Amino acid sequence: MTKYFLRLDDICPNMHWQNFNQLIAVLQKHSIKALLSVVPNNQDAKLLQFPCNEKFWSIIQSLNQQGFEIGVHGYNHVYCTKNSGLLGIKKDSEFAGLTFDEQHQKIMKAIAIFHAQKIFPKVFVAPSHSFDVSTLKALEQNNIQIIADGYGILPYTQKGFTFIPHYNNPLLPSMGIQTLDVHLNTISQKNLDALFQLIERHNHQFVDIEYCLKAVNNNMFNRFFKIINFTSAKLLHQLAAKK
Ligand SMILES: [Zn+2]
Repeated sequence: MTKYFLRLDDICPNMHWQNFNQLIAVLQKHSIKALLSVVPNNQDAKLLQFPCNEKFWSIIQSLNQQGFEIGVHGYNHVYCTKNSGLLGIKKDSEFAGLTFDEQHQKIMKAIAIFHAQKIFPKVFVAPSHSFDVSTLKALEQNNIQIIADGYGILPYTQKGFTFIPHYNNPLLPSMGIQTLDVHLNTISQKNLDALFQLIERHNHQFVDIEYCLKAVNNNMFNRFFKIINFTSAKLLHQLAAKK
C-alpha cells in the first residue's frame, strides 16, 4: 500500500497563514508529522508579499517539539543561477553553480539561524530542487546528510547521503513512499480540499521521516524506478516547456 510523506515548502514568517494553520490543525488531529521546509532568512520578493507573523520561530519550535521535522530550505530562497543541478528539474537555483565556498557560507549561515532558535535540522530541502556536488560537500561539512529530494519509489543512499525521493510523477503508478510536496502559498482551494480529503480517508498511510529512513532500499527494483522516474520526469518537463 502506498505511503505518503508530507513536505510543506516555503515555510517562513511571510506566508499564507490561514492555509498553514488549517493544514497543521488537520495534521495534529491525525498525529501526522510532516516535514516543514523552513527558509531561515527569507529574502524572496514573492514570499515577502504574504503577511508576516512575528511569532514564527516560537510556532516552529513548538511544532518541532511535537515531532514535526524541520528541514533547511536554503538560506534566503533567492535564485541566483540558472543551474538545474544534479536532478535537472528546474533551471533556477539558490546553490547549484556557485563555488563551494559560496555555498558553504550560505549553509553555515542558514544552520546558525536554526541553532540560535534551538532547532537542530538534519534534512536539506533544496529550493527549486536544485543542488550540485558542492552543495552536498558543504552539507556534509555541516553534518547534514539527508536530502528530501531525488528520484525513485523508496528512500535510497548515495554519495554518503540518504535521499527521500520526491516521487509525484503522474506517468507512473502510485507505490512505495510518495512525497506530497505542498506549497501552501499558491495551492488552489480545490487542491487543498483534495489534500484534506486524502488525509481524512487515508491518514493511516501517512508516515514520518523516521519511517522513511528505516525504508531505505538500494535494491535493483528501486534503482530501476530511479532511472524510469528520472527519464519520464525529463520527458514531462520537455513537454511542458513546449506548451
Ligand atoms: Zn521553495
